Amino acid sequence: MSAIPQVLTIAGSDSGGGAGIQADIKTFQELGVYSTSVITAVTSQNTLGVNAIYPMGREAVQSQLQAIGEDFQIAALKTGMLFNAEIIEETAYNINRFEWGIIVVDPVMIAKGGAHLLRQEAVAALKQHLLPLATVVTPNIPEAEVLCGMAIDDAMTRRKAAEKIISYGAESVVIKGGHGKDPYVTEDFYLHQSGECLLFRSARIDTTETHGTGCTFAAALTAEMAKGAGIKEAIYVAKRFIQAALTDGLHIGAGHGPTNHAA
Ligand code: PLP
Repeated sequence: MSAIPQVLTIAGSDSGGGAGIQADIKTFQELGVYSTSVITAVTSQNTLGVNAIYPMGREAVQSQLQAIGEDFQIAALKTGMLFNAEIIEETAYNINRFEWGIIVVDPVMIAKGGAHLLRQEAVAALKQHLLPLATVVTPNIPEAEVLCGMAIDDAMTRRKAAEKIISYGAESVVIKGGHGKDPYVTEDFYLHQSGECLLFRSARIDTTETHGTGCTFAAALTAEMAKGAGIKEAIYVAKRFIQAALTDGLHIGAGHGPTNHAA
């Protein structure tokens, strides 16, 4: 019998193959875990942007979660694009029902091209139902600002924002630094509910092939924790994975090319 850890991604499909479910499955495969998936929405999308979004109905989401829960031993899961409050509620309900333990919540909100991947009125549901279940939440700076309702413009406000996110019930948070202002350096800030914090600093990689970065980072984090790594060790590996994926980004399509999941 194979001992490969089984993981789950609950996210949207990107027809262009660079982000969402497709990025997650490729990352999981690269990192040696078995991927199951629950599709929350189908997007018509390429490297130029999102043309259309077709959310799944509540029943379709519930039935996929049921199929996973009744057969697989999920060692860790990640959530990505959840789009609306009913999909968030269904996801949270089933995480509790199946007692899934390691939960990475990537609070996907707006695509780089500006498309809304989470309805604005669903932010409250995300905070109320999903963040209390999170082992780790992985917002970028704009997402962290929406979650905590304050601007982040320095180390002090970033820490305050992280504390606020933990106050919603999450065990830990990583505020990713890709949207930071420093042209040379990016910093990912980790805070645990115990008060422990760490700064992961690295040179900024100058590239336009950045599509799917957030999904890929969260998927790598999920895979490492499924294999038994602690949060800090998993962040370290996920950061190295995303750096390699960005350094070796793919010149595919006329817009923002995808990061390279096999780098
Ligand atoms: N499409 C889907 C389905 C996603 O889940 C995401 C990101 O999480 C995106 C698009 C956005 O990708 P990016 O902002 O990296 O272009």
